[in-house]
Amino acid sequence: MTTEPKLSKSQYLKGLQCPKALWFYRHRKDLAPETDAATQARFDTGHDIGVLAQQYFEGGVEVTNEYWDITGAITSTEQFVKDGHDIIYEATAMHPVDGSYSRIDILRKVAGTDAWDLIEVKSSTGIKGYHIDDVSLQYHVFYHAGYKIRKCFMMVIDNSYVRDGEIDPQALFKLEDISEHVFAKQSEVEYVAGQLGYVLDRKKEPEAEIGARCNSPFECDYKAHCWKHVPEYSVFNVYAGKKADEIVGHINSFDIQNIPVDLLPGGSKRIDISCFQDDKVHIDEENLRVFLGRLQYPLYYLDYETLGPAIPIFDGTGPYNQIPFQFSLHVQTEPNAKLLHHEFLHKELSDPRRPMTEALIDLCSDNGSVIVYSQTFEEGCNNKLAEAFPEYSTGLQQINQRMVDLLIPFRKRWLYHPAQMGSASIKYVLPAFTDLSYEDMGIANGMEASGQYQAFAEGRLPKPEHETLWNNLSEYCELDTLAMVKLVDVIREAMVEE
Ligand code: SF4
Repeated sequence: MTTEPKLSKSQYLKGLQCPKALWFYRHRKDLAPETDAATQARFDTGHDIGVLAQQYFEGGVEVTNEYWDITGAITSTEQFVKDGHDIIYEATAMHPVDGSYSRIDILRKVAGTDAWDLIEVKSSTGIKGYHIDDVSLQYHVFYHAGYKIRKCFMMVIDNSYVRDGEIDPQALFKLEDISEHVFAKQSEVEYVAGQLGYVLDRKKEPEAEIGARCNSPFECDYKAHCWKHVPEYSVFNVYAGKKADEIVGHINSFDIQNIPVDLLPGGSKRIDISCFQDDKVHIDEENLRVFLGRLQYPLYYLDYETLGPAIPIFDGTGPYNQIPFQFSLHVQTEPNAKLLHHEFLHKELSDPRRPMTEALIDLCSDNGSVIVYSQTFEEGCNNKLAEAFPEYSTGLQQINQRMVDLLIPFRKRWLYHPAQMGSASIKYVLPAFTDLSYEDMGIANGMEASGQYQAFAEGRLPKPEHETLWNNLSEYCELDTLAMVKLVDVIREAMVEE
């Protein structure tokens, strides 16, 4: 019988993905990565969702002990139960034998009984496999701590919600009964929690092969350590999931050079591998010629930056709706004409969509190609803008009809450089063909742009930091469209070289 808290819920989930990751977490703190901006943004969203979830279940009491004070949190919870409270936020319990412990977001008494419901709150819009594992551990803990549990629920975001004034928690969330799944998992949890207890007691790190588990359900925090001997472009870039594990086991190597001919994949991946093995650029002249033939001057190179908050910020928007707040537009009126640059960046604490739409339609005139990288994204944004502002629908649809997707030549491998390492993302294509790259920028990717702008839009970014944000966003978004200009030049030059 243990009386010490030993295995938290997050440690259980980490160990379920890989026992070695759990062992590193406990015994090799030096390997833990720093919290990056994206992770911090996730924490902030989780906190805000938690506050709204408590408003959904009004009238509860909260266990407020510090995160490390498990024993104190358990005592507070037991006192609240004794005092007759029906709703307890952050209720905490511990399994008396294996020492697993957890905090449930909401512990709710079933009216007129001595039973309770467990309610775990997540910021997703649906239920994932690891959510079941999460609540299964919670049930294991609370049940063995002596709580009679009637049902287990996931509380997730209802993506049909549309904001109209103050956020309405009753409409923002929906409850899903996952009791059956949780009950069915209990013998597995019993076994795994016991095994992970032994893992934590080990002096030596456990053995674990790298492979699909390192990215599923989450990218493991210790990949930089465990994968340091894996080439940047390896078998894992060619095959996905368990298939990659099979191939590595079969050839006993991560190196693409060692994949035998009979195991080589078909389609675009075969082009990637042959370019890598022969260190050569692949050019499909015929298709590139057709692509270039579609471009009509004036050329408009367009890129949006968007935010997609879980809790909608603006009226008329829903959870995770993509809201454009910035665009960059490079314009070339005719061949060899000077390149012009325009930008829109919404710097007010208000809905950016209408002023952005007006500026876009004004700048794009009514003829010439609108070149984007990944058309479905910009086209989808325009369709949503047209729905929200029907008076601009004609202008937006006209822009969509003129769109040409620069991703296609690279995704279809009409032009491929081995330095792309199997990716058609502009982050790989640009440095492969030009001397431009996204390295060392204040904002290095769309996720960072979105996260930092969201902090501003929610009023969380201190005023002295606004100017730096505007500069970083401008520099980042401008490079996205300049990159497209350069890549069209690269395609033209590839045709000349052929
Ligand atoms: S990187 Fe892979 S092998 Fe290493 S600890 Fe993480 S999941 Fe385990």
